[in-house]
Amino acid sequence: MEKQQSDFDDALVVEQFNAMTRSIPIVFVNLLFMTTVFCWFVYEQTSSRLALWATPPLMAAQAARAFYWRRLGRRGHDFSIEKQRRMLRTVWIMCLALCVGFSVIALLTLSLPDIFIQSTMSILTIACSIAIALQMFTVPRAALSVLWSVTICTVFVFLRSENSILIAASAALIVVAFAVARLLRDNFDTFRKLVHSRVDVERMRTAAIDLAMTDALTGLPNRRMFEMKLRACAAQGTEFSVAVIDLDGFKPINDLYGHAVGDRFLEEAARRMREARDAGLIARIGGDEFALLIENADGSRASSIARSVMARISAPYELLGVSAKLGASCGVAVWKEPGDENRLVERADMALYEAKARDRGAVVIFAAALEDDAQRRAMIAAGLREAVAADAFELRFQPIVDIATGEPKSFEALARWRHAELGQIPPNVFIPIAEQAGLIEAVTDGLLRKAARTAMRWPEQIALSFNLSAIQLARLGAAQNILSTLAECGLPPRRFEAEVTETAIMSDVVSTTATISALKLSGVQVALDDFGTGYSSFSELCELPLDKVKIDKSFVDKICGDARAASIVGAIVKMCGELDLSCVAEGVERAEQLECLERLGCARAQGYLIARPMTEDETLAFLAERSGAVRKSA
Ligand code: C2E
Ligand code: CA
Ligand code: CA
Repeated sequence: MEKQQSDFDDALVVEQFNAMTRSIPIVFVNLLFMTTVFCWFVYEQTSSRLALWATPPLMAAQAARAFYWRRLGRRGHDFSIEKQRRMLRTVWIMCLALCVGFSVIALLTLSLPDIFIQSTMSILTIACSIAIALQMFTVPRAALSVLWSVTICTVFVFLRSENSILIAASAALIVVAFAVARLLRDNFDTFRKLVHSRVDVERMRTAAIDLAMTDALTGLPNRRMFEMKLRACAAQGTEFSVAVIDLDGFKPINDLYGHAVGDRFLEEAARRMREARDAGLIARIGGDEFALLIENADGSRASSIARSVMARISAPYELLGVSAKLGASCGVAVWKEPGDENRLVERADMALYEAKARDRGAVVIFAAALEDDAQRRAMIAAGLREAVAADAFELRFQPIVDIATGEPKSFEALARWRHAELGQIPPNVFIPIAEQAGLIEAVTDGLLRKAARTAMRWPEQIALSFNLSAIQLARLGAAQNILSTLAECGLPPRRFEAEVTETAIMSDVVSTTATISALKLSGVQVALDDFGTGYSSFSELCELPLDKVKIDKSFVDKICGDARAASIVGAIVKMCGELDLSCVAEGVERAEQLECLERLGCARAQGYLIARPMTEDETLAFLAERSGAVRKSA
C-alpha cells in the first residue's frame, strides 16, 4: 500500500513537472509583456529613466527563462524525481515572489490620481494573474496564491477608490476569482485522476509482464524471460555461458508422493540454487529443468559453477515428511559469436542429453560433434517414421535355456532395423529415439504382433520374452494393448514374458507398476532386465511384482575371475531363491561362465555361447535340434 502511494506520488511529480515545462514558457511571455507595460507605466508616471533602462534586461531575462523551459519541454531531461520535486518547489517560491510583485503593482495604483489608468492597470494585472493561474493549474497552490493575492489587492484598491462602478466591479471580481479557483481545482482533480489511472494501468501491465515472465511455482524467471536476457547478453558481445540442469530422480518422487510433495521439492531445489553465488540468472525452463545464464564465463568456469549448484541440489531433502535425494545432470554451451544465441539453449540441451547418457551428476560442455549426434538422431527419427509406415522392422530371437538340461525355455525377441543411409542401427539406439519421437507404440505394436505369431509356431511350453520400454510401460492402457494383441494372435498370456528394466520402472513408478500389475493379473510373467546396473536395493526389489530377474552381462563377464562379481551373483541367486523368483544369467559367452553359474545355483542362461539371436526359421531348427538332444540325454 505504502509502495503504491509512493509510486503515485512520484508519478504525480513527474506529470506535474512535464506539464510545467509546457506551461512555464507561456507564463514567462505573459510576464514579459506585463513587465514591459509596467516599466512603461512607471516611466510615464515618474519620468524615471531607470524604468526605461530596466526594461530590456528584464525582458531578456524572461525571454531566456521562457526559452530554457521550452527547450527542456522539447528535448526532454533526465532529472531525478528529487530534482524535479525541488524544481517544482522553486517554481512555487517564484510564484510567491510573483504574488508579492503583483500585490505591489496593485497597491501602487492606489496612489494614481487618474482613475482610468488606475483601473486599466488593475484589469491588466488581474487578467495576467488569471492567465498565469490557468497555465499553472497542475501546481494548484502556486496558481491559487497568484489568483487570490492579486484579486484581494485589486478588490482592496477598488473599494478604496470610492468610485461606485469600481466598488460594484470588485464584487464581480470576487465571483470571477471563485469561478476561476473552482475551474483550477476541477482541472487539477481530473489531472490527478488521470495520473492515478495511468499508474494503475502501468502497475497492472508490469504485474502482467512479471506473471508472463516468472515461473509461478518457484518464482524464478521462466523460459521466456531467460531467452530475453540471453539475447540482451548476446547484444553486449562478451563471452557468456548457458548451463541447463536437469533433475535426476524427481519424477519418482512426484509419482510416489504426489504433486504437492513434488512441488515442494522443486521449490526447495530452486531456493538452494538461488543461494549459489556466481550462478548468474537462474530460470526454470521445464518441469524439472533449470537454466543458468552465467556472464563472462567460458565453458570450464560455467561447468564449475554448475557443479557447485548441482552439489546444493544433491544434498538430502526432508520435506513434508518425505526424505529423499535428488541428483542433477548438466549441459553447458558457450556463446562465442553473434548468432550463437539462437541455438545456445538447444546446444546446452544436446550436451545435457550426452551428460544423461553418461553418468549421474555429469556435466558436459557442448562440442560440434554433439551437434552431429543430434543430427544423426534426427535422421534416425525421420527414418523410423518411414519404417513404421513400411513395417520395416524385423525380429531376431535369442533362446534362454535351462542350464542343467540345456532345454530351451523361451526366446527373447530382439528388434532389428536397417536405416537406408546409416545402415544397421542397434535397438538400444533406435528404441530411445522412437520413445522420444513418440513412435514407440507404433514400432512395438508391429514387433509384438510378429513375435507373437512366431511364438505360435513354437511348442506350447516355450515362452516369448519381449522387451517393454519405459514410455510404453508408463502409458495408460499399455497392458490392455499388449493383452489384446496377444489375444488377436492367439498367444496365451502365460506364454508371454515382459522384460522391464529398473530404470524404466523408476522413471514413473506409479504408472509402470499399474501396467505390470495388470499384466501379471492376466497371467503374464514379468522379468527384471539388466539387474545390477540400476540403483535399486534388494529390499526395493521385493516391493516390485516380479517373477524373474535377469542378471546383467557385466556381472556374468567377470564371474570367473573376479571373486567380488561371483559373490554378487551368488547373493542375487540366493535372494531370488528366497523371493521365489527365477533367475537368468545374460550374456554367457564362455563354457566356464556357465559352469560357475551352475555352481552358484543359477537356473537359466542366455548368451552367444548358447546361441546368437536368430531368425524365425532358425528358432524352429534350434528347437528341433535341442529337443532331440534333450531327449537323447534324458
Ligand atoms: P537386452 O534386453 O539386454 O538384450 C540383450 C542384448 O544383448 C541383445 O542385444 C543381445 O543381442 C545381446 N546379447 C545376448 N547375448 C550376448 C552375448 O553373449 N554377448 C554379447 N556381447 N551380447 C549378447 P541387442 O539385440 O543389440 O539389444 C540391445 C537392447 O535393445 C536390448 O538389451 C533391449 O534392451 C533393447 N531391445 C531390443 N529389442 C527391443 C524391443 O523390441 N523393444 C524394446 N523396448 N527394447 C528392445
Ligand atoms: Ca531384454
Ligand atoms: Ca538385458
